[in-house]
Amino acid sequence: MAEDPNDWETATRLIRGGMARSPLGETAEPIYLTQSFVYDTAESADARFSGTEPGFVYARFGNPTVKMFEDRLALLEGAQACKATASGMAAVHLAITGLVGAGDHIISGKALFGSCRWLLNAWAPRFGVETTLVDGPDLAAWRNAVRPNTRLLFLETPANPLLEICDIAGICQIAREIGARVVVDNVFGTPIFQSPLKLGADVVVYSATKHIDGQGRVLGGAILGDATLLEEAYKDMARHTGPSLSPFNAWVLLKGLETLDLRVRRQTDTAAALADQLAAHPKVRACRYPGRPDHPQSDIAARQMSGGSTLIAIDLGSRDAAFRFLNALELVDISNNLGDSKSMATHPSTTTHRSMTEEQRLEIGLTPGWVRLSVGLEGPRDLARDLQRALDAA
Ligand SMILES: *Cc1c(COP(=O)(O)O)cnc(C)c1O
Repeated sequence: MAEDPNDWETATRLIRGGMARSPLGETAEPIYLTQSFVYDTAESADARFSGTEPGFVYARFGNPTVKMFEDRLALLEGAQACKATASGMAAVHLAITGLVGAGDHIISGKALFGSCRWLLNAWAPRFGVETTLVDGPDLAAWRNAVRPNTRLLFLETPANPLLEICDIAGICQIAREIGARVVVDNVFGTPIFQSPLKLGADVVVYSATKHIDGQGRVLGGAILGDATLLEEAYKDMARHTGPSLSPFNAWVLLKGLETLDLRVRRQTDTAAALADQLAAHPKVRACRYPGRPDHPQSDIAARQMSGGSTLIAIDLGSRDAAFRFLNALELVDISNNLGDSKSMATHPSTTTHRSMTEEQRLEIGLTPGWVRLSVGLEGPRDLARDLQRALDAA
């Protein structure tokens, strides 16, 4: 019986999914670094453009290497369709603006990646789209924010930077009752540990820059969901506004996917052990880690995530203590990226979340003592030693 990729285990999907070998029989995925395509005849060009003949036309619309990445990620996610984009923000922008128009209303969790918050607060209003930000874990707050014109619920879970968790199935239930769509930014959840489409979401968004590349090289993004929805809501917009992923970057991301499962699981195992170590240190006022029983939404985490996280947040009490901690790190880099094979620590209130007002930061509990750690692939004992030294200095 012929192999059905939908029966494959995750590891096989990540290695074999989407592979489209050329007649030359290369081992690795080919990079088609081409802008456009040629046709044997004028009739063929006519047919290709009209859509009656399958095939590529122009790289802004599609490219064979990009398609391999889209097919592999769709297979991993269990989605009918995937549209790759040049960055995670291009994906978030497409995912949101493709579903709303002037006069529509969005509800979003208030703990968000900074650029997502800007998109909703500063950009969407220019096109007549209003957003209400709510306390993400509080289902009643989502329900109370509903208006007759609410078209879209947007959430990120676990959320940046304090890893609070929203109930995806509960929010999808509210959306179904009011006929709205749900878009989930699944960057922190990762396709390995969390499947929002299976919990009822319409669209999943990734910054492939994070765990999917995971080796600090390229930007990329993707939106995934039902084939009809992607066709109707996004196809024309993507074609005509041009957030296309470069074929070279798609190739790097294909290679990233091959090791995604291994990396995310290993990084998560290390992070879980480090979270316990950090939580026990007297200088740590609070430690947030989705896999720990003291996480405020540990029950929701257990229901909707099959693993913890590669990220940990710790509160050291003050900005000075946080800076002393960061400056004493020798192995772990001070950097704002995450999901990378190199461990990184960031001080959100002066970097990734500095564009928020102090009041807005306090609303999401982001006081100046918080540090976000992204745990990489280094040896766990070396990381434990580095963090211990930095905490002692904090
Ligand atoms: C990084 C990130 C984005 C944006 O991705 P880019 O690839 O940097 O554009 C969006 N959402 C979340 C949760 C992120 O961490």
